[in-house]
Amino acid sequence: MSMAPLPLDLEPGLYIVATPIGNLGDITLRAADVLRAAGLIAAEDTRVTAKLLARIGSDRPMVPYHDHSDSRARARLLERMRNDSVALVSDAGTPLISDPGFKLVREARAQHIPVTTIPGPCAAIAALTLAALPTDRFLFAGFVPAKAKAAADTIAELAGLDATLVFYESGSRLGRTLAALKAGLGDRPAAVAREITKAFEETVTGTLGDLAARYADAPPKGEIVIVVGPPEPAAPADAETLDAALAAAMDAQPLKTAVAEVSAALGLPRKQVYARALELRGAQ
Ligand code: SAM
Repeated sequence: MSMAPLPLDLEPGLYIVATPIGNLGDITLRAADVLRAAGLIAAEDTRVTAKLLARIGSDRPMVPYHDHSDSRARARLLERMRNDSVALVSDAGTPLISDPGFKLVREARAQHIPVTTIPGPCAAIAALTLAALPTDRFLFAGFVPAKAKAAADTIAELAGLDATLVFYESGSRLGRTLAALKAGLGDRPAAVAREITKAFEETVTGTLGDLAARYADAPPKGEIVIVVGPPEPAAPADAETLDAALAAAMDAQPLKTAVAEVSAALGLPRKQVYARALELRGAQ
């Protein structure tokens, strides 16, 4: 016997509700409860959210909301939150993550309106779980700019980071973006995760070069996350480089300072640099 869920009694405030990124079965119990009980649902596209509401049996009223909605629309929503519960949803996934909501949350907080999150699906996090790349440190970089120069500049800013990088992309631009990533980051290991949780879900792994070649003339359909592994650790400096750096540094300053400078510059253990510095000094 199944029982109809009891409607929640929600306190006034803003409820950030994550929704599925493809498979509607991924709605959380709490998200469904909040979307059935909220006084109002602010939705990125009310037609998209209507399908989800039908699936979970919610008849709550909706209004469209974007961060570029005019400030009066935002003010009306904020006013409503003072005495009523307002849920914010985007078309798919977690609001605010490459989606509307930042300005609304910022202003709600500024006005001391309670803000609650109902976490759930997010394509970036789902892709990280599929990519077989390190997840201990990652940077979500959103969409790479469409123009080539802006894309190259953005990628150059990320190149030195010791972190896995996560990008959102569309099928039609995938080949171009992978080629730009290879040019700016080198041939790192990467993954393309497509249509996550949907019928044609697919994750392809390889180097950026392999993936750029694969998709150059074959743009795939659907929604895509690109995950790129961190840079390889720099190769240790060879003996000749170390000796030259030490000779120059020891000419100009005391041994201890020279050792500190060279070990930082070449990324070598201080002990090793110190031992070599003593050898060089002894040989003089
Ligand atoms: N807020 C959403 C989230 O939490 O993931 C992201 C919204 S952003 C406008 C849409 C982008 O997310 C798509 O272009 C794609 O890069 C990625 N995306 C969304 N759903 C996806 C899915 N099922 N599979 C792969 N990527 C997806």
